[in-house]
Amino acid sequence: MIASQILHDTLKVNFGFEKFRPNQENIINTILSGHDTLAIMPTGGGKSICFQLPALLFPGITIVISPLIALMKDQVDSLRANGIPACFINSSQTEAEQQLNIQNLIENKVKLVYLAPESLSYLENTFNLITVSLIAIDEAHCISSWGHDFRPAYTNLGYLKNRFPTTPILALTATADKATRKDISLQLNLKNPKQFISSFDRKNLSLEVRPALDRVKQIIDFIKDKPNESGIIYCLSRKTTEELAEKLQKIGINAKAYHAGLDNSIRSKTQDEFINDDCQVVCATIAFGMGIDKSNVRWVIHYNLPKNIEGYYQEIGRAGRDGLPSETILFESYGDVIQLQKFASQGLNAEVQLAKLDRMKQYADALSCRRKILLSYFGELVTENCGNCDICKNPPAFFDGTVIAQKALSAIIRLKESEPLPVIIDFLRGSKNASIFEKEYQNLKTYAVGSDISWHDWNQYIIQLINQGFCEIAFHRQNKIRLTSLAAEVLFEGEKVQLTSVPKITVEKIALKEP
Ligand code: ADP
Ligand code: ZN
Repeated sequence: MIASQILHDTLKVNFGFEKFRPNQENIINTILSGHDTLAIMPTGGGKSICFQLPALLFPGITIVISPLIALMKDQVDSLRANGIPACFINSSQTEAEQQLNIQNLIENKVKLVYLAPESLSYLENTFNLITVSLIAIDEAHCISSWGHDFRPAYTNLGYLKNRFPTTPILALTATADKATRKDISLQLNLKNPKQFISSFDRKNLSLEVRPALDRVKQIIDFIKDKPNESGIIYCLSRKTTEELAEKLQKIGINAKAYHAGLDNSIRSKTQDEFINDDCQVVCATIAFGMGIDKSNVRWVIHYNLPKNIEGYYQEIGRAGRDGLPSETILFESYGDVIQLQKFASQGLNAEVQLAKLDRMKQYADALSCRRKILLSYFGELVTENCGNCDICKNPPAFFDGTVIAQKALSAIIRLKESEPLPVIIDFLRGSKNASIFEKEYQNLKTYAVGSDISWHDWNQYIIQLINQGFCEIAFHRQNKIRLTSLAAEVLFEGEKVQLTSVPKITVEKIALKEP
């Protein structure tokens, strides 16, 4: 093992840092002793040093596999700025540029070469002529269809271990649940990899979930409150990013849209403006962020529910990399859930992706410390509540909602489980509108038994009943509300129901339409 002093000197001299971040030194030592290694470190945790530093100490070349061409250039630029010879080879270059870099590899003139997984076959002949001391695979979760960002080109990377059987491989990712971790090791053919999992706890990020009702207004109010703080708003669709950016621009907020469908030049301009604080808000799809090194992002908003907790965690992780307090808000809507369910069920590994979406939804609906839920998802067990999430700051007060539940569930039966939520609420409240009178619902028992409770509160309560599993929305049948088997226990067996009056969970009107 190389003496700690040498590692610290290299860190200081070549990268200008005084000390290692958690796990960096252990990971580096493991690689230097020739072991395959799996490093799981949150975004901003300092993964790059883990292969860049050993690359300087090894005699041969370090190959870095990276999924994003834009990212390669940034990394190579900053390595060169530190006086470290590095290059990248990818399809953005001319044949001549590529050949020049290959020549440099053969002459051992660079310590690191960044490659897209697609470029490997192009270099097959070169591999016979060079010594490869280390292979680093960045964003390694892309190899697994169990993960959330599967890239088919990554599946070929298993070949590296066969091609370079004695070269240690370092797989790095910021996001991998247990199943995905196993899959990464398996698919890369890692040999007894040592695994390092850094703490994912980012105490400086506050966590909050809000109902999506009037979310544009909520977002505007939020941003107006902090005119000098920049942030990212993640949206599900390209269209939403553009529409939202336009709405914000109209009222004088310096916002831009960013998504993979925009011209490269526009994208990099927006990215630069954001990094240089010339653009306050970026409304983006998840295409925005990988590799954006901006330490003072003060907030991240999710306009739509993310597909899964890994993605969510990575996205909120772009806030507060400088360690200062930063806010995150997630808007929850049933409309999103429906749409995401549709996507998930049509995609790869539908069952897994649906289950992951379910976890995401459970997180949003949670009535206990959100950070505990997040950390336990990544296998980190904590006993203390965090004190920095909306639930910890404002714990819901439960009351005995049995009678309310009985009224709602009876109403659903009286309406023959054939009406959507708004009609059930109108019925409970004794409304005299057309949806009631046309079907003569005013003559049924239970009509108007809930006229003492506001429309909004009924909405909240019934959603809570849905979340607790007493009734459900039949998404494929015009969102009719029907009972589940649990309902009978409340109606006939005296089962108690706990409700909370905290306005937390809301169904948007839009969500009540058939998608
Ligand atoms: P990741 O790839 O895990 O998101 P990076 O490798 O890009 O993280 O590192 C994030 C930031 O932390 C970079 O600005 C990097 O220069 C800085 N950094 C990394 N290691 C250290 C260290 N030991 N001391 C101080 N800063 C560090
Ligand atoms: Zn908490």
